[in-house]
Amino acid sequence: FNTHQGAEESFSDVTFEDIGGQETAKNELLEALEFVRDINKVKSLGIRPLKGIMLSGPPGTGKTLMAKAVARHIDSVFISTSGSEFVEMYAGVGAKRVRELFEKAKDSAHKKNKTNAVIFIDEIEILGGKRGQNSSHLEYDQTLNQLLVELDGMSIDDEINILVIGATNRIDILDKAILRPGRFDRIVKVDLPDKDGRHKILEIHTRDKPLAEDVDLEQIAKETFRFSGAHLESLANEAAIMAMRANSKEIKSSHFKEAIDKVMMGEKLNRRPRQ
Ligand code: ATP
Repeated sequence: FNTHQGAEESFSDVTFEDIGGQETAKNELLEALEFVRDINKVKSLGIRPLKGIMLSGPPGTGKTLMAKAVARHIDSVFISTSGSEFVEMYAGVGAKRVRELFEKAKDSAHKKNKTNAVIFIDEIEILGGKRGQNSSHLEYDQTLNQLLVELDGMSIDDEINILVIGATNRIDILDKAILRPGRFDRIVKVDLPDKDGRHKILEIHTRDKPLAEDVDLEQIAKETFRFSGAHLESLANEAAIMAMRANSKEIKSSHFKEAIDKVMMGEKLNRRPRQ
């Protein structure tokens, strides 16, 4: 396999229980996955097989986690890559990488004796942006075209079932062709968590941490409006660091308070435009 290609193969140990909140998104995914699990019924009823799912939402809201949970739920190999891996100066390289990505998915499923493979493409807008709108648009066009060719070429009778999951926070700039029926059929919206979602995420990320009695996760959830899952994970970690610095065996409410300030500050100081 081309070593320039950043596609990584891994085993997913993430379950849907590890994802806090996002109930609608999780339910939509589980419902869609029935089609993958019950392939014989899908075949006999002549239903179009599910080829692609698009996860759309802001950074750090658990899109990667969801893709991993999907892979585990349908007992499949997990191949992950990013749209930026397909951007090359040389014509044809991006398209070649797309072909290799699908080959790799089939190969690793074979090797692991699995019938399913999940290909996760983060920042898919980089490779699937509207055609003809980039300065080097020919190269992008070829890459996106190859992705469409691969999707269209997948059939329910294939030995290995591939499910492609794309993630984007710019669904508005995706080429419409990619979202057409039979390609990325399902669009699952993921959003910043609400208060209950934040509470659940905090529970998940503090489950292995010693919390002092004065810690009220419900209250912390109230005070962390607009925090993403990634912020909350970082908050739990920072609070533990504060406890360590203070030589405390438990993480106290005061450590969480300091940590909230720190995460909020970091957000302001580090905010750079995403490419
Ligand atoms: P990006 O768009 O930046 O790639 P993403 O939406 O794919 O982000 P993830 O990579 O899944 O986000 O999330 C980053 C980390 O934040 C996760 O590893 C996890 O620790 C935490 N996290 C995010 N959302 C959740 C959630 N709903 N439940 C639990 N943890 C979460």
